[in-house]
Amino acid sequence: MTLLEELQSHVGSAFVLTDGDKTAFELDWRKRQQGKALYVVSPQTTQEVAMVVKSCLAHGVSIVPQGGNTGLVVGSIPDESGTQVVLSMKRMKKIRHIDASNLSLTVEAGCVLQTLQEVAQSHGLLFPLSLGSEGSCTIGGNLSTNAGGTQVLRFGNARELCLGLEVVTAQGEIWSGLSALRKDNTGYDLKDLFIGSEGTLGIITAATLKLFPAPQSTLTALASTEDLEGCIRLLKLAHEHLSAGLTGFEVMNQFSLELVRTHFPNLAPPFESSPWCVLLELSDPQDSSHAATLLENLLSAALEQGAVQDAIVSKSLAESKQLWHIRESITLAQAQEGLNIKHDISLPVSQIKSFVEHTDRALEELVEGVRLVNFGHLGDGNLHYNVQAPRGFDHKTFLTQYEDKVNEIVYQQVKSLGGSISAEHGIGSLKLKSLPNYKDAVALSLMRSIKKSLDPDNIMNPNRVIELNPS
Ligand SMILES: Cc1cc2nc3c(=O)[nH]c(=O)nc-3n(C[C@H](O)[C@H](O)[C@H](O)COP(=O)(O)OP(=O)(O)OC[C@H]3O[C@@H](n4cnc5c(N)ncnc54)[C@H](O)[C@@H]3O)c2cc1C
Repeated sequence: MTLLEELQSHVGSAFVLTDGDKTAFELDWRKRQQGKALYVVSPQTTQEVAMVVKSCLAHGVSIVPQGGNTGLVVGSIPDESGTQVVLSMKRMKKIRHIDASNLSLTVEAGCVLQTLQEVAQSHGLLFPLSLGSEGSCTIGGNLSTNAGGTQVLRFGNARELCLGLEVVTAQGEIWSGLSALRKDNTGYDLKDLFIGSEGTLGIITAATLKLFPAPQSTLTALASTEDLEGCIRLLKLAHEHLSAGLTGFEVMNQFSLELVRTHFPNLAPPFESSPWCVLLELSDPQDSSHAATLLENLLSAALEQGAVQDAIVSKSLAESKQLWHIRESITLAQAQEGLNIKHDISLPVSQIKSFVEHTDRALEELVEGVRLVNFGHLGDGNLHYNVQAPRGFDHKTFLTQYEDKVNEIVYQQVKSLGGSISAEHGIGSLKLKSLPNYKDAVALSLMRSIKKSLDPDNIMNPNRVIELNPS
């Protein structure tokens, strides 16, 4: 049988796209790259995934797993060769089991993140992973990229929220590792190999996730500060005053909010002339008056010490959502403004100010009038430090002329301060060539050994994350 006939017999002809418009699966979220798929296959069960992998392996065809295709490092679309199969996980969306006493939830990999938050909520519980793309990204994609988001400060990233996995290996075997245990020291932690591997080692088909008691009250505040130093001082005060109640701490520079004002005028971010703003969230197991007192004490101390200039506190859930909406619209506003050079860096919080001062200056010297969209999860030491062409400069020309030079300035500075060139988005193909310059050589060699051992035929998302034979 041909590969096509085998795939059709495994999942049904209706779920193997062969020609026609496959754009939704071939174009990356930022519309920077367009690949070409041989076929797009959409299995509905783990057994079907296993059969698809076995057939692709037998025919020597590589596989690109895809969830919501919201990844930002060009890892979920096929290359341009027209020889790769895209394996879409979108039909695998069953909620398999919720165990409220164990605070755990077992779901299939194609479940959309927001659906899982809603399932937890309907049981009076919380699944805290939260990202701007939560309406379309899938839990399989979240785990494969070890996604971060806005609640890492308190609950950790996707890795820390996962208790067990079910995986189809590169040989088409099914590893049933859906443990719901919080303690299990019976050898190597295999799930941690697959989490964050961006589909290069196997296909995550299901996961058991941690749930938490839902907080009684959640309050959000927006504070304006004169400089980044003010944001960092507010963070320290927030840790002292709110302790584990501090569940979000996001910063936004003036230009990132200006983009939201321009492209989403109905969101009307306040504090128009403020150089920086902080979005801060408090989740409290007690009632809202207790939370309000905690937040009031924090903001009074911050105003008194001159860390912040002004602040507003949400008075309702709707107001809180509106404030978060402003923060979450920055990525979309940037996309509307035009192509830019994105960075997703992390540093010890103590090094952030030095990084921003030095890098802002170096980039201005490189390109006069360059515009910096600087925002992100300051509480985790994670900035989305994005570089936009000067006003009036053609975006494409800017990228062609400056992308490599800008990346070098940013990444060298990150390296010199002990940071990472990818905090939460992953490596994909976008940062494939850069990684060896900024990661320990022994670590790279161990990564290659793992890849060769688990996927000796290199059929799982090849040329993503790690180059096997770098030139
Ligand atoms: C507006 C916006 C905001 C964002 N905010 C954040 C943020 O705050 N934090 C953050 O970390 N990311 C963020 N992202 C990036 C992105 O949403 C995350 O990386 C998300 O986890 C990707 O999920 P997905 O289902 O879309 O995966 P995809 O984009 O489809 O795939 C991502 C990678 O995982 C692999 N993969 C997907 N599913 C599987 C599977 N089941 N098994 C094996 N491999 C698989 C793919 O091959 C690819 O390498 C944002 C993106 C957008 C567009």
